[in-house]
Amino acid sequence: MDFASKRLKLVEKLIKNGYLKTDSVISAMRKVPRELFLPLEVRDSAYVDTPLPIGHNQTISAPHMVAIMTESLKVESSNKILEIGSGSGYQAAVLAEIAQDGFVCTIERIKPLVEWAEMKLHECGFENTSVFESDGTLGLPGNAPYDRVIVTAAAPHVPKALVEQLAEGGLLLIPVGGQGYQELKRVTLKSGELSEENLGGCVFVPLIGKDGW
Ligand code: SAH
Repeated sequence: MDFASKRLKLVEKLIKNGYLKTDSVISAMRKVPRELFLPLEVRDSAYVDTPLPIGHNQTISAPHMVAIMTESLKVESSNKILEIGSGSGYQAAVLAEIAQDGFVCTIERIKPLVEWAEMKLHECGFENTSVFESDGTLGLPGNAPYDRVIVTAAAPHVPKALVEQLAEGGLLLIPVGGQGYQELKRVTLKSGELSEENLGGCVFVPLIGKDGW
């Protein structure tokens, strides 16, 4: 079976299993070619629902985790989004596909991955994205505030700068906990008040930086 058919089949499974619910998220995951964001060695496994190595000791999240994260972020087409942990660039691509009239800024600390994500996002035509090489625990104050902030690495606590860079009505999604297991937290800023929800367990690679590990 070709990649496109495998992609549609996996998306159907993610819908059936309740991970995918929203039309815009479903069509983004039907459209974005995960295989192109993967190194050649693992490309054949692009549509197995599993995390895969992307080099430099890092991983691309499993498709069901990308589905959970993207659904939980409640992305709207005009949103300005900040992602911490570009990795392969795949999650940023899914976000950029939904935020057609918005923008995705994504930060990565490992230079070869910055270059990889940048190249792949460009190759796939996502012009509403920018990849930055820096410590994402400090956010990206120059472009703040953001309607949505998504951290795709595991933090020991919620970095202060990320909350400060949230726009009114904004959402911040972040795995918080130890290095082996975390709770996915969603922080909401509404009428100037912060509230927090726990969305369940997850496992991400560590968020390394000044306000991380
Ligand atoms: N979202 C990615 C997967 C992320 S893996 C994808 O779709 O492929 C987590 C990434 O976070 C790794 O690439 C790691 O290098 C990066 N990372 C860890 N700490 C970071 C920090 N402080 N700032 C920016 N990136 C960080």
